[in-house]
Amino acid sequence: MIDQDHKNMTFAAIRKDQAGFRITPNLADYARACAEFSWQSVERDLSSGRQGSGLNIADEAVDRHAAGPRALHLALRWLGKQGEVLDYTYADLRRLSNRFANVLRGLAIGKGDRVFVLAGRIPELYITALGTLKNGSVFCPLFSAFGPEPIQQRLAIGEGNVLVTTDTLYHRRKISELRESLPALRQVLVIGGGDMTAPPNTHSFHELMHTASEEFTLAPTDPEDMALIHFTSGTTGKPKGAVHVHQAVVAHHITGKYALDFHPDDVFWCTADPGWVTGTSYGIISPLTHGITSIIDEADFEAERWYRIIQEQKVTIWYTAPTAVRMMMKAGTEIIRKYDLRSLRFISSVGEPLNPEAVMWGQEAFGMPIHDNWWQTETGGIMIANYNALEIRPGSMGKPLPGIEAAIIQKRKDGTVIELKADAVGELALKPGWPSMFRAYLHEEERYRKCFAGGWYLTGDLAKKDADGYFWFIGRADDVIKSAGHLIGPFEVESALMEHPAIAEAGVIGKPDAMIGEVVKAFVSLKKGYEPSEALRKELLGHARSRLGPAVAPREIEFQSSVPKTRSGKIMRRLLKARELGLPEGDLSTLEND
Ligand code: AMP
Repeated sequence: MIDQDHKNMTFAAIRKDQAGFRITPNLADYARACAEFSWQSVERDLSSGRQGSGLNIADEAVDRHAAGPRALHLALRWLGKQGEVLDYTYADLRRLSNRFANVLRGLAIGKGDRVFVLAGRIPELYITALGTLKNGSVFCPLFSAFGPEPIQQRLAIGEGNVLVTTDTLYHRRKISELRESLPALRQVLVIGGGDMTAPPNTHSFHELMHTASEEFTLAPTDPEDMALIHFTSGTTGKPKGAVHVHQAVVAHHITGKYALDFHPDDVFWCTADPGWVTGTSYGIISPLTHGITSIIDEADFEAERWYRIIQEQKVTIWYTAPTAVRMMMKAGTEIIRKYDLRSLRFISSVGEPLNPEAVMWGQEAFGMPIHDNWWQTETGGIMIANYNALEIRPGSMGKPLPGIEAAIIQKRKDGTVIELKADAVGELALKPGWPSMFRAYLHEEERYRKCFAGGWYLTGDLAKKDADGYFWFIGRADDVIKSAGHLIGPFEVESALMEHPAIAEAGVIGKPDAMIGEVVKAFVSLKKGYEPSEALRKELLGHARSRLGPAVAPREIEFQSSVPKTRSGKIMRRLLKARELGLPEGDLSTLEND
């Protein structure tokens, strides 16, 4: 299927032999698809006029299929940690999401109200997401490995009205204590919770579901109505709540078709957690809009478990992340040979740079390269991708989706923007107007406005474009940390560390790591009366972990007599990083002298 050609690259380009495809790729002619593309035609494809002028993500994902020939097609297959299997057809999903929408209605939760979910990958999460959207309420997922502080912050910024969580997380994350500081939080629904002493407005999820009706009339939603809030981290201040609207489903759908090559008989497995945008856009919405089957695995990564899932579930399309690919590479190709993975026909990855070695390793391990693609919370869906039928240049993120205009730009001091020539490094920018573009950062108009200049959305990533239109990732333009595919704001971590009585100052950086991209490393200086010691280091690590949770807390802490700052008092993370990596320290003119 593959024919390699040596180009001016570290790794040879991978060309696809059209005769080698089991199924003709949806995007067989890239240039033509781009030339003929219109968002209106995708929209027509979707709603088929069922809702008049309205548009609702859950209607497109579930009810459209439940009312047609795919009603009894398997929509979700859930694989529990203990080997349980639960199947949901499109008709099942319709009934269950209707029930949940009725539960919300019964609690006087309506259009625009915010429904947060703090749970692992369990069926209730998926039902909550779909029922919330049907009710016209806003779905806001929280990653289950967040500690109490990130949870509190996000619920406060998002003005969460409902929280759905499990009894374990309710206790472990101290939700009852957090509630005092969250006046908007009217209702908490607990999954499980047999022995819970229930504070007021705390309900059993399953009891409410049990008595709710299976019939529900969809709340009328406009394409521009708020549907989803995804939180993402910035360099400074609080996390940002990126707002997405129902119209986003148009992008979720077409990117599933072109970038992930969905066909009606596909069994798709997105390994991302719905606590992050990939796990919602592609772990829930996009495959459902295509009426195909999705696999959900409750458990965390374990190489053999994953191969067994592909074999047993006959997964055809697999969407994963570079950290997972690197862990599989570490586990070796030997174990892969024990499994029959011939069902696979397309593998894709997102979230961090995918090293060319990893692209090629896919070839050796699975008989096909791994297709990198690029997007971010703000874009709501895949923007740049390596497609099934197109030549791959290992190490490149690929080419923009039809309908997406991307460029490498430079913002001048006077605010104007110039487009750079081929191979020049600049900021990756997108022409606004695609359906899944974020519509706001909650309560932060200025921060939102700053993302746009000269008619472009500025992504905050540095990249270059080669003469043939392939995009290559260079790095972030800011200090945000990417660890195991998750964005972490250094400021959030520093703030949590500063709460400890021993800490005077804290500076946090991402330290390159071969496996997970970057690990969070903190440099701290101590207050008078405290001395660096191994015991204190452990205590600080424990403190950060209990506040922030394992996904965000630093793995390493180093004591310093003082943390470098600018004269205006800003922590110089760039300098900390340069020193850590033994790189040139650069311009130190603004460094404060102690
Ligand atoms: P998030 O908003 O958490 O999805 O993170 C988005 C950021 O992840 C992007 O702005 C990039 O910095 C990084 N990212 C996502 N996909 C890729 C990719 N394929 N290659 C390199 N970096 C990526």
